[in-house]
Amino acid sequence: MSPHQRALAIPRLLHLGVGCLRDVAELLAAHDFDMGRVLVGSGPGPSRLLAEGVVSGLRAQGVDVLHRPGLCGRLDQGAALAAEVIQECVTTAVGVGGGRVIDPVKLAAARTGIDFVSVPTTISNDGISSPVASLVGKDGVRGSHAARMPCGIVVDIEAVGSAPAPTIRAGVADLASNLTACLDWRLADQLGHDRFDAYSAMIAEAAARPVLDLSDLSATAEHEILARGLLLSGLAMAAAGTSRPCSGAEHLVSHALDAKLGPRAALHGEQVALGCLVSATAHGSSLLSDLRRLFGRVGLPLAPEDLGITRQELVDAVASGPSLRPDRWTILSERSHGPADTADLVAEAFSSPRVAELAS
Ligand SMILES: [Zn+2]
Repeated sequence: MSPHQRALAIPRLLHLGVGCLRDVAELLAAHDFDMGRVLVGSGPGPSRLLAEGVVSGLRAQGVDVLHRPGLCGRLDQGAALAAEVIQECVTTAVGVGGGRVIDPVKLAAARTGIDFVSVPTTISNDGISSPVASLVGKDGVRGSHAARMPCGIVVDIEAVGSAPAPTIRAGVADLASNLTACLDWRLADQLGHDRFDAYSAMIAEAAARPVLDLSDLSATAEHEILARGLLLSGLAMAAAGTSRPCSGAEHLVSHALDAKLGPRAALHGEQVALGCLVSATAHGSSLLSDLRRLFGRVGLPLAPEDLGITRQELVDAVASGPSLRPDRWTILSERSHGPADTADLVAEAFSSPRVAELAS
């Protein structure tokens, strides 16, 4: 291979099905996963029952399983799992749950070099297939850690569709945010702050565009469109070698809200939705009306108050977001950000959309 080409490892197992959690053991065996000893991580919430189904399915096939419940997105849990993988000679790690379960298992597998299988029970964000683990460190601050894309992904559309409605809506916004993120990326390239990668951006944007046409998220077919888009977002990030194609100014706003609100923070994707409206406004993009229509249809926030966040808190997050990642140039990086300017931007982003704009 020429030194100017690049290689991308894609998952060797991808299975989307209805009621397929009981088939995980069979799917792993059919795709040459090393079943010597399998660690299954799960969370404390309702997904635990789904994980127990996966565990019993594996044990029924005679697989030696270590089940580690109670994962909740902490970095020390990722480290403890990595130690366990080494000590217990685990050969394959499976995360069954939402991002707080997937990410510590993903990190442990990446750092110990064993195969990781993602079995999401919610589709609330693009972490289900990304090469990045978002975990809370001992200082209480959430940070991103380089991991690897999963080697296998099994999505039970029925399970993710029966997760609470806000988690599904949040996934819609996290996927739609690829469109604003790529606006930032192109502009950063034009202004000499970053190098745009057309292929990764093409994957990210193609993954996101179908969500603009989703209606009310009640149908299984819509959940599947969302799941496929989020899986492709992971591929875009892996191809880019950075989260750039799926994370721009809208994500900086959400990260700033996380830091500011602590336990009052809303779901990642819900906050990203607010950030998307700010970003599309700052770019002067026609995407703004597309996003408002979509968010209105599926019940995503059209203003910070919809999430119990005050206007001032949002203004502060828009102002402080860029300083969280000075290396990531976005539309918010260079606007003349006096307090009045930021307040004006926020006011414009969340002004009541004209009736014509909301008619779809
Ligand atoms: Zn995100």
